[in-house]
Amino acid sequence: MSLKVREAAVELFSRQGYDGTSMRDIAKRSNISVANLYNYTDSKETLFWTLMKAAVEDLMHEQREALSHETCSAARFVVFAYTHAKHHTTHAREVVRLGNTPMESLSPDRADKVRAVRDEYEGMFRAVIGEGLKDDFLKTDHYVLANRAILQMGVGISLWFHPEEVLTSESVANVYAAFAMAIVGYDSDAHDRTCAAGTECVAATTWMKWAPGR
Ligand SMILES: [Zn+2]
Repeated sequence: MSLKVREAAVELFSRQGYDGTSMRDIAKRSNISVANLYNYTDSKETLFWTLMKAAVEDLMHEQREALSHETCSAARFVVFAYTHAKHHTTHAREVVRLGNTPMESLSPDRADKVRAVRDEYEGMFRAVIGEGLKDDFLKTDHYVLANRAILQMGVGISLWFHPEEVLTSESVANVYAAFAMAIVGYDSDAHDRTCAAGTECVAATTWMKWAPGR
């Protein structure tokens, strides 16, 4: 798909919503004819799906890359929460607004696929939380809700974050990572005793510097 069409579609879907955006709008914004737009995609739904899938896959790729540098399970948790929050300060519109499109607007088959992509991302985080629980670095009886709460909290950044604000992407992401640690009951004593990197670990430094109430 051409970059022009892609950008036009993301912008319009984000601003006007899925239902409020027509193929004619997208063609007009891309400076091409409606007939030409159908050379790129067979329907609005396919176009939406292509963008949504690409957005979530980009985010998963970013997460895999970030996780690949960490072996400590607490560090992996922090890095995932940080990356999730940071992503939503910069790629806000794409994932969020596309991701929040009402499922009833989509055909059942396509809605299932959208759910599956979201579930895959949630599952990635669930696995990371699971590692931390197993190591006793994280302590919560509510890991399924903790998972959703942390992801939704991060997604919400895109509703208010503006790059020109005093807060930087990094500081917001750091604070949100510390909030996430509090939600899952991060045990800094258990971590610092066991982790090979000890207080040098990214989990320990994030907690020491950004933990709520410190
Ligand atoms: Zn560690």
